[in-house]
Amino acid sequence: MNQTIEKLVSLCKRRGIIFQSSEIYGGFGAVYDYGPLGIELKNNISQLWWKEMTQVHENIVGLDSAILMHPKIWEASGHVNAFHDPLVDCKQCNSRYRADEFGDDYDSIEWDTIKCPKCGTTGKMTEPRQFNLMFKTHVGPVEDSGAVTYLRPETAQGIYVNYQLVQGAMRMKIPFGIAQIGKAFRNEIVARNFIFRTREFEQMEMQYFVKPGTDDEFMKEWKEKRFRFYPNKLGVDESKIRFHEHGKTELAHYAKEAWDIEYEFPFGWSEIEGIHNRTDFDLSQHETFSGKKLQYFDQQENSRFLPYIIETSAGLNRMLLTVLSDAFWEDTENNRIVLKLHPRIAPVKAVICPLIKKEGLPEKARTIVDGLKPHFKVLYDQQGSIGKRYYRQDEAGTPFGITVDHQSMEDDSVTIRDRDTQEQTRISSDQILNFIRDKMD
Ligand code: ATP
Repeated sequence: MNQTIEKLVSLCKRRGIIFQSSEIYGGFGAVYDYGPLGIELKNNISQLWWKEMTQVHENIVGLDSAILMHPKIWEASGHVNAFHDPLVDCKQCNSRYRADEFGDDYDSIEWDTIKCPKCGTTGKMTEPRQFNLMFKTHVGPVEDSGAVTYLRPETAQGIYVNYQLVQGAMRMKIPFGIAQIGKAFRNEIVARNFIFRTREFEQMEMQYFVKPGTDDEFMKEWKEKRFRFYPNKLGVDESKIRFHEHGKTELAHYAKEAWDIEYEFPFGWSEIEGIHNRTDFDLSQHETFSGKKLQYFDQQENSRFLPYIIETSAGLNRMLLTVLSDAFWEDTENNRIVLKLHPRIAPVKAVICPLIKKEGLPEKARTIVDGLKPHFKVLYDQQGSIGKRYYRQDEAGTPFGITVDHQSMEDDSVTIRDRDTQEQTRISSDQILNFIRDKMD
């Protein structure tokens, strides 16, 4: 594993951000649990996305569809027949790879000339086999084929099959969007790079229903909006994100045009979000398989048509890995590790510390905590030297350290320390709330 990622993994475990699933049983492959700080961070990120989509855009509404759905949906969507990854094995050391790791044109590779990246043996690689990524499960007590369904591999289909109900109930007029955050499952062949590729993950998807012919224009609009989200809302370094357009061979079976937003992770440039023009592929498939008409009626033009769909599809866990990688900073000068998370997404916004454990300082610090905690997450800490207390919070990404000292008892002021610069300023305690809120905005 990459060294920086290794350090990040260890920090995440130590500070209760992310744990390997089922650790006491030796772990469970490519599944992770989120600890107390991890869940705060994840919630902050997903709430930001949710607000951006469903609050800032008046024509986008939310949905929470079920993970288990009618199995025919996955036939209609193409997942039963086409959601495959090509798999190759090294017969020498039993390592398993996705064939496309060796090149997009893996079909024309001569596999008996390929060297195994792990054991170095040449000539032991198998030909690619197609492997369906969906987790199959049985509904009901009898394991017969009539009751087979799948854990959803994407949240999008739940939106398509509900689109008419949502449109009717909310009287939505095209163009309009439906947003959803939820779990998705893929039986990934190789899971690497920490939470980048896992078998259980969360997606944040928005499907934008538009009139055919206007799709190129909306594709452009959503590409731009989604790209800006990373620097503007998450505070990600703009020089570390870029677009990658899918070439003809990369395009998914449903897509007319597709762009990835990529981030430069410690292990290289990789996709964090996809923006796809899915045309009317999904809706027309669902018309065929369900036998129900799914056209939209345009009252003004008195016409009916199947909308085209522009999809923005982001992985919540990958977004979290993006902000963690971006924020991770080894401050060698001061011998500390810092998570430079934007105050907007930091799990805890401030730590409040009495300088000493007596003379009324703890009580005053507690009063400050009580005043702030209805607004955002703060911590009280009186353990150890003030320097140690700050360093503990630097690692957790807490942007502000507030200290109550003797002067506080006289003039009701406190010092407020900036995590990144370590500079301290003195402000009146009734200004703390506004100070932090300003930085979060
Ligand atoms: P990849 O090529 O990395 O497998 P994909 O092109 O199959 O991804 P999409 O189907 O477009 O991905 O899914 C949309 C988003 O969902 C991705 O951009 C990613 O953020 C997230 N995602 C997909 N698969 C996983 C996974 N196994 N673990 C975590 N996140 C994932």
